[in-house]
Amino acid sequence: MNVIHPVARIPQLLKAINGINYSWRIGKIFGVPTDLHWTFVFVPTAILYFAYTPGYGMNWQAAAWWSTIATLLFTFILIHELGHALVARDRGVKAEKIILFPLGGGAYLPEQPKQIWAEVLVYAAGPLANIFVALLAWIALLLRPDGDLLIAYFLRLSGNIVVQPGILDQVLGISLGVNLLLAAGNLLPAYPLDGGRILRALLRAPIGARASTIVVTTLGLLIGLPLIWLGVELGDPLLACGAVFIILLSGMEYRNGWQRRRLAKTTSDTVLRVPKDDQLRVYTNESVGTVRQRFDASRWPVLPVFNQWNEQIGFVEAGVLKEEARSDEESVAPYCEAEFITAPPEEGLLSVTERIIAANVYGATVLGKRGKLVGYVFTEDVMGVLDSPWRRFWRRLK
Ligand SMILES: [Zn+2]
Repeated sequence: MNVIHPVARIPQLLKAINGINYSWRIGKIFGVPTDLHWTFVFVPTAILYFAYTPGYGMNWQAAAWWSTIATLLFTFILIHELGHALVARDRGVKAEKIILFPLGGGAYLPEQPKQIWAEVLVYAAGPLANIFVALLAWIALLLRPDGDLLIAYFLRLSGNIVVQPGILDQVLGISLGVNLLLAAGNLLPAYPLDGGRILRALLRAPIGARASTIVVTTLGLLIGLPLIWLGVELGDPLLACGAVFIILLSGMEYRNGWQRRRLAKTTSDTVLRVPKDDQLRVYTNESVGTVRQRFDASRWPVLPVFNQWNEQIGFVEAGVLKEEARSDEESVAPYCEAEFITAPPEEGLLSVTERIIAANVYGATVLGKRGKLVGYVFTEDVMGVLDSPWRRFWRRLK
């Protein structure tokens, strides 16, 4: 079995994610760094594709029209995200950046506001910004000739209206409709939408953080499933994709909450590895071959590394030696990770794991009174606790 330590995988994983997450900085808008995700190249590609008819060639008028609509759409999404980012900044939370995707956007807030009402306000600010733009479009349409008829036409309030909207009327009508849709869609009370986050903030005080997360992620599943059906029924791939996204993110957040609860209920001695003798120590002047034998004999995934004064300086992982070391004769030193954290025996597993992940190390050395070694906690063993029951069963079967 090829065991790669989860932490060892992180650099590769990050590289892959960075590749997927590549984006261009288009500048700072009101001081908020704003990025365009690379998948945006699909937008002009799609417009040109749909404006082209074999045999007839390119319909440039259609291409220009769809480009206008796309630009309007992204402007409204940007206004929505700016709503979140600027109100967050006003409430003392830094907005790291805004990223615009072809299917929407995101304002990255590294922390949440402390007070409930500040949090509600930050998440409501996006939809409110769209409602404000819709209001402006509404007023502008009312000032046009036959304005009230145009509004009824664009909002599909009645099926038998005969109007001939000009270009300006159409742009205003689209602004009205799209902004109302963006506001209403994002206010659905389902995680990870704004409405779900507002609901979670409001429920946190009366029913607690865990229960409020369960409520909004369950609503994510309950609202997402019929939305997929609606997207298919209406032949709207954007709606269907968005609904799948809601379900996936709700599922991930639910699982995250479940894992935290499981770790919080577990004490670190359930995964504690206690070394029987000094044979389970690696010294930096040893060879790769010697250490490999020690891994084989102990079946430990990770071993502590010591210097010549018998002080621990870090950890070394079996998977790294297996994958990266070329010969048994070379020194083990370059494969050792010269970092570790220490934990008191009474610290809970959730807290230790969070610190291990934050420090990006293989594990923690548990030290008792007067610095006496009690044992080690490795992320690999924590993962074992987090394995769902059916996955553990499947693994045993194999
Ligand atoms: Zn939003």
